[in-house]
Amino acid sequence: MSRKRKALSMKIFLAAMLACIGILPMFLQALMVLGSYQQNQIDTRGLELQNRCLILSNKLSRSGYLDADVKDTLLDNEMDVLADIYSGRIVVVDKNYKIVHDSFRLSEGRIQISEEVLQSFRGESISRYNRDKHYFIHTAPIYEAAGSQNISGVLVSVSSTEAILDQTEAVRDKASLFQLLSLIILGAVICGMIYVFMKPINRFREKLFQVASGALDTDISENTYRETKEMSESVKETLKKLREADASRQEFVANVSHELKTPITSIRVLADSLMSMEDVPAELYREFMNDISDEIDRESKIIDDLLSLVKMEKTAEMNISQVNINALVEQILKRLRPIAAKRNIEITLESMREVTADIDEVKFSLALNNLVENAIKYNKEDGWVRVNLDADHKFFYVKVSDSGVGIPEEFCNKIFERFYRVDKARSRETGGTGLGLAITKSVVQMHQGAIKVKSKEGEGSTFTVRIPLNYIP
Ligand code: ADP
Repeated sequence: MSRKRKALSMKIFLAAMLACIGILPMFLQALMVLGSYQQNQIDTRGLELQNRCLILSNKLSRSGYLDADVKDTLLDNEMDVLADIYSGRIVVVDKNYKIVHDSFRLSEGRIQISEEVLQSFRGESISRYNRDKHYFIHTAPIYEAAGSQNISGVLVSVSSTEAILDQTEAVRDKASLFQLLSLIILGAVICGMIYVFMKPINRFREKLFQVASGALDTDISENTYRETKEMSESVKETLKKLREADASRQEFVANVSHELKTPITSIRVLADSLMSMEDVPAELYREFMNDISDEIDRESKIIDDLLSLVKMEKTAEMNISQVNINALVEQILKRLRPIAAKRNIEITLESMREVTADIDEVKFSLALNNLVENAIKYNKEDGWVRVNLDADHKFFYVKVSDSGVGIPEEFCNKIFERFYRVDKARSRETGGTGLGLAITKSVVQMHQGAIKVKSKEGEGSTFTVRIPLNYIP
């Protein structure tokens, strides 16, 4: 089962996008900068302590601190001050692992054996950082005298990095406050940007709503962005076509009513005058009845043509098959020859080649029939009608030329409109409804073809139909 997907709001999408662009870098930056700042501080502290420790152990070695009978209080002081500065503790252990100086004065006389102390008794200077408990431990050997290889003790320095952590924590707190402020400002900026960005789109939407509610004349121009301009232009184009279609529908309905009413009015006039006369001679009676019958024929022809046209426009269904066009044209001409013969009009067919094409036989026959019928209808006595059939690799062409009355140039485009007739009186005389060419054009278009006319008033007309040999639905 397919579930209808809810459309995403453009505003929400934009807000989320802008927020991601604005907030993410801010958080990432804060996270990375603070992290590396903290690490940097710790590393610097470690190096500094290591150096101090080495300098101090050298001093203690040079002064023979551990072998002197009297304690060097100056060095003791120096160690205490240093321990204070680095918020740490400095301890000196002698050969017997006994603590001889402690800057905290807590463990003097006690034994101190740790892994680092043992390593330094082997001559190594150790520097280690305990990440869990956040402190540095540095140990360095103290030699009996400057240049001596005999180790008489070890200097142990322990220093906490809590202060550094507290410091970065304070910076982090400040950064969070800054981030919060930035977030508020960013939120306000995003809202403002979305408001400004969406304003033309909202305007356009409002106008579309107006159009949808029936106000087809609403000016929907929205030229702020190129995209909205393009959209409004295509909607305008669609609306223009809609208005045209609406106008043409109204005109069609008016024309249909008028055309259908005309024969009925004539019938009524004929019938009324018959009824108003007394002792009507049978002769006159017959004549009037004949006229009435003609009008009924005309009404029926209009209805038939209208039905064909509506069918053509409504059911786009095409019954396509491969048809021999030469045979089809021949058959149509054969049917129309007797009508032409009544006015001594000669019909000739000129087939340039054998043509087979994919067409709807019934619809195409109707279209061609209309063209040849017109060529006969609008012809003069003893005239001619020439039908020419030709083809190339893509299309086939049917040309219907006549020696008739011709069509004034200014009407050549109009004759394909429904109910359009150049000479209404003549058309009426010949039983024309003004729908024949509209039907023909519709059929040609359904076959993805084209129709054009060339005519000279008083000399004759040529209608050319071009149809693709292969029908692509
Ligand atoms: P109608 O039923 O009046 O013939 P059509 O739609 O077939 O209607 O033709 C429209 C008008 O075009 C005709 O009324 C006529 O004035 C003109 N017309 C069509 N074919 C020809 C032609 N072969 N020669 C001159 N005029 C023509």
